[in-house]
Amino acid sequence: MHDVNPDPRLRPTLECPGIQVFAPVHPDRPFAHISPAVPVAVCVCRCGAHATAHGAEAVAALVAKWTAHQPECPGRAVRPCEHCGEPTRCRSTGLSGWPAHAECYAVWADRPVEQRRRAHQIDRIKARELQRRKAARLHEQLTRQGYAPDVIQLIITGGWSSEQEPAA
Ligand SMILES: [Zn+2]
Ligand SMILES: [Zn+2]
Repeated sequence: MHDVNPDPRLRPTLECPGIQVFAPVHPDRPFAHISPAVPVAVCVCRCGAHATAHGAEAVAALVAKWTAHQPECPGRAVRPCEHCGEPTRCRSTGLSGWPAHAECYAVWADRPVEQRRRAHQIDRIKARELQRRKAARLHEQLTRQGYAPDVIQLIITGGWSSEQEPAA
């Protein structure tokens, strides 16, 4: 989003809107906060709004203003939200920036966590069912071999804790 190239050919225009930020850092002190050159920002929005800022504080303020302006820019096309279908000027905060309300996008972004939780629950249920089937098979086998029911119960519950005990 922020171009650090001061190349005038990359300056945003109405045909090619955007924000260009030039914040040079001294090459010998790449982590220095103080730079000999003055940071500059130029922005031209698709709605025609444009501004220039000189100095670190003004540049930071312009970047913040630009970011805040984008979702409510009147020049931005109203598109149906990818999640709820209602028209919106907002775009998702991800790299692709598809049309989406901020709330709809947040719900969508949280989805993988919820999906993982559900998949984990399903795995646990499947594991419990497998244990139950194994126990039932063992019970059947031991019954055929003529073991007394209380002995069978002892053998089966040997590797089980009481809350995992099958109903069978
Ligand atoms: Zn605008
Ligand atoms: Zn939505």
